[in-house]
Amino acid sequence: MIIDLHMHSTCSDGTFTPTELVREAKASGLTHMALTDHDTVGGVAEAREEALRQGIAFLSGLEISAECQPGTLHILGYGVDETSPPLLERLTAVQRWRDERNPKIVEKLGQLGVALTLPEVEAASGGGLVGRPHFAKVLVDKGYVATRQEAFDRYLAKGRPAYVDKARLSPEESIALIRAAGGVAVLAHPLQLQTPDEATLDAILRALVEAGLQGLECHYRNHTPEDTRRFLALAKRYGLLVTGGSDFHGTNRPGIRLGVGEGELKVPGECWESLTNALRRSALQSATGGEAPAHRPQERPPTREAEARRSALQSAISKDNRRPHQSALRRGRYSKAGLWYALTKCVAGRAALLVQRGPFSSPSPASIVVEGLLELERQGVWNCAAYVIMPDHFHAVVELREGSLPRAMNSLGKFTARRINSMLHRHGALWQPGYYDHCLRGDKALVAYLDYMMNNPVRAGLVERSQEWPFAAIRWDAE
Ligand code: AMP
Ligand code: FE
Ligand code: FE
Ligand code: ZN
Repeated sequence: MIIDLHMHSTCSDGTFTPTELVREAKASGLTHMALTDHDTVGGVAEAREEALRQGIAFLSGLEISAECQPGTLHILGYGVDETSPPLLERLTAVQRWRDERNPKIVEKLGQLGVALTLPEVEAASGGGLVGRPHFAKVLVDKGYVATRQEAFDRYLAKGRPAYVDKARLSPEESIALIRAAGGVAVLAHPLQLQTPDEATLDAILRALVEAGLQGLECHYRNHTPEDTRRFLALAKRYGLLVTGGSDFHGTNRPGIRLGVGEGELKVPGECWESLTNALRRSALQSATGGEAPAHRPQERPPTREAEARRSALQSAISKDNRRPHQSALRRGRYSKAGLWYALTKCVAGRAALLVQRGPFSSPSPASIVVEGLLELERQGVWNCAAYVIMPDHFHAVVELREGSLPRAMNSLGKFTARRINSMLHRHGALWQPGYYDHCLRGDKALVAYLDYMMNNPVRAGLVERSQEWPFAAIRWDAE
């Protein structure tokens, strides 16, 4: 597991396009990544698609430059919906502030005898947003300075003669925007706050936590073990989750490599776990309106007929249990009407997209999976006895009635992928190819599996008790 949760593409001030960046991540051995361009989510869709192809677990992200004196205050947003209208609207305003600032920098440089044009700087940006690092590149290329750092030190840094201030979002609004877009808000590289003492850092953190901050970037490209320990202690004190990353910018920042930063960085697996758990929790909250599960299918006590049917089925299953060739059945390549199967299917890249509020007030992609399971039941393909829809996969227990399991799963996959993709305005493969199946024979196997399956949301830390999970049901008396 090699994780890097902080990196930039050409959409902001990195030198790799989103696709190139993901390929570079693959080449560097990364297994988990997030793209965090400054003030834009423009590269997220492209990077996600390539991550899917490369088999890298991917989180959307961005890094908002917020107002702060005197240092730099960057808020990372992870797992944001990159189509969130309020987020996009504010980022467009930020972009406008940038566009207003850049000609002023050109003008100031001109007054200092540095001849450079806006189109030259835009060309250096690789098509993404245009910022001071791109000015620095042109200054080097044209021979005005030897290094990009010199460009900052002589001209571009705050307090230097070509510096132009730019309007920024407040930290509070940055956090609120990220959270409203379904994301988790994390304070980036706390060293760059340049706080004079621990009390100041403490005061800033407390204010940010009050505004809804959820995490702290404790692992960073240039942190000493002492820095990391100090920030881990702060994260603990404020109940913040811990993240980390290299802040890779490609050749714009030589000496920094993906995954390892300046060499010592190692982002622990727990960072990914706690981040994705937090995202699942907030997805659940918004999917259920923040309340206890609303549209949980009614769990009725089994009717007498259903009970009889169930025990008849089970004795048939038990009989089948005594047959030879069990292993062929268990491998599931062979499927047989009348048998009960535990089925599991995963979203491509294990993206947690099934449990979220769909646009236009449609409830959630999870409900489409339920619809698909029940549609096949209506068609007489199977009886669906129970299901649990998780954010990135689902389980169902079915009694196959007609046809083969592969054919049934194929049509379930098609039914759900088409509808969910159109609900989420996404393209490409929704599901991981294939599925897991396990033939359940005998009461014991069935009950044990159901118990295991229904507790999935509890084990994942999504709810306290299995009954609280809205996208699950046991339907003994289904017909
Ligand atoms: P901008 O968003 O256009 O204001 O550019 C901000 C970026 O410029 C930061 O993310 C840094 O990469 C870089 N930067 C800002 N100040 C300095 C500095 N003093 N030295 C080197 N790079 C800097
Ligand atoms: Fe940057
Ligand atoms: Fe930053
Ligand atoms: Zn960054």
